[in-house]
Amino acid sequence: MSLQKDVIIGLEVHIQLTNLKTKLFCSCSNDYRGTEPNSHVCPICIGLPGSLPVVNKKAIEFATRIAIALNCKINKSMYFFRKNYFYVDLPKGFQISQYNRAGGRAFADGGQITLKLNSHKKDIILNRIHLEEDPARLVHKGSIATSPYTLVDYNRSGVTLIEIVTEPVIGSPEEAREFLKQVKSIVQYSGISSLDLEGSVRVDANISIKGHERSEVKNINSFKEVERALRHEIVRQKNQLKRGKELIQETRHWDDKRRITISLRTKEFEADYRYFPEQDLVPIEIDNNFIQKVKDELPEMPSERSLRLRRDYNLSDFDSDNLVLDKDIADFYEEGVNSDALFGTNEYKQYCNWLMNDVSRVLNEQNKTIKDTKLHPHQIVDIIRHINEGKITTKIAKNIIDDMIDGFSISEILEMKGKKRISDENLLEKLGIEVIEENSKIVKDCRVNPKAIEALIGRVMQKTKGQADPHITRTIILELLKEKGITE
Ligand code: ZN
Ligand code: MN
Repeated sequence: MSLQKDVIIGLEVHIQLTNLKTKLFCSCSNDYRGTEPNSHVCPICIGLPGSLPVVNKKAIEFATRIAIALNCKINKSMYFFRKNYFYVDLPKGFQISQYNRAGGRAFADGGQITLKLNSHKKDIILNRIHLEEDPARLVHKGSIATSPYTLVDYNRSGVTLIEIVTEPVIGSPEEAREFLKQVKSIVQYSGISSLDLEGSVRVDANISIKGHERSEVKNINSFKEVERALRHEIVRQKNQLKRGKELIQETRHWDDKRRITISLRTKEFEADYRYFPEQDLVPIEIDNNFIQKVKDELPEMPSERSLRLRRDYNLSDFDSDNLVLDKDIADFYEEGVNSDALFGTNEYKQYCNWLMNDVSRVLNEQNKTIKDTKLHPHQIVDIIRHINEGKITTKIAKNIIDDMIDGFSISEILEMKGKKRISDENLLEKLGIEVIEENSKIVKDCRVNPKAIEALIGRVMQKTKGQADPHITRTIILELLKEKGITE
């Protein structure tokens, strides 16, 4: 089934600027998570009559950062608009946003993110990015469709959002996933937000099958959910068409508890929002000096960094692209490999493997970021040194990563676990003799198949719980087999 070729997806990605201290138009704290409901509010963010908003200058700076990072064209003068709609999460009855029609402009136009897909590159072209205020937070009991009540917490009301709007050029849920991976990375490098925070992203997706009406799926509350929601919606639309029913333009809600989309309303058009200029705010003027200053302060972005890591550490495209995705991981990597002057090309690659495989595995299992751990970059150096000098086996090393993440050093862990490598030749010889006596069939195999010796070494490993020195064990077993006249 060619599920994808005829699919058209456009995304509207709302990102909370969580690294701001205050809200977009008032001085209430931006940090509402875990606070008493309706405690971070003032006349402005609950929309009391007579209150006047004032734009947060830092929010303009943050928007400039992300605009530069996404290669958008920043509009030098602009003003805010009121987007009118009536809903409990919107105390004023309108959301202060930006509008790129009726004489208005978005914060910045265009821009793109280049994706590396299996066999080719693809530019996801952006339509625009704009600033707007977050509505209040609605709390339901279980699913929105079945909850007996709705609670409203205005602490979130007025928090700054940047909305990234793509052109309808995304061809599949997988492409959407790759796009959002890059968005997350670029946002992290820009320093404007921590997207790991609950509720810091909300995505609306426009989805259609070529030649048919589109639906807009609202309120997808995490990047992970986007792919799932898109898959569901594509299948729903195709099934509808298969049954001979035409699709209608409608707004649907992603119910992440039940993992389905449900119809909210039909025929919602831009005119329904009655956009008009926000007269309570002065227009914004942005000059080139300001843009240049922000640009100068931006760190190296992931794509440039990937190129540099390839060059400086001789990594493959695949390794460097993955390594740079999470800025904290990439910082950790560079600090680590540079903390050991003796590291060479092989160790650079080894270090990268440890981070991307074993460390990442534990982070995923424990749902942590590298910064949540006590792991220090030099500890990976220690691991690699211990392995390369034959002090521990790779297998043991893999088993101690968990403890390292909890802050213990290799020597502490080895002591705790008593897992020092066994290199006592007398003991290993005794175990080797045992193993040869106990496994006559494998020993017979050794006459014809030189690889069968691995099974004998494996038995010694089993007896020592993986602590036997593999090199010494091998030498001893080879000697024993030779003594018995089994091998040459
Ligand atoms: Zn406020
Ligand atoms: Mn929006």
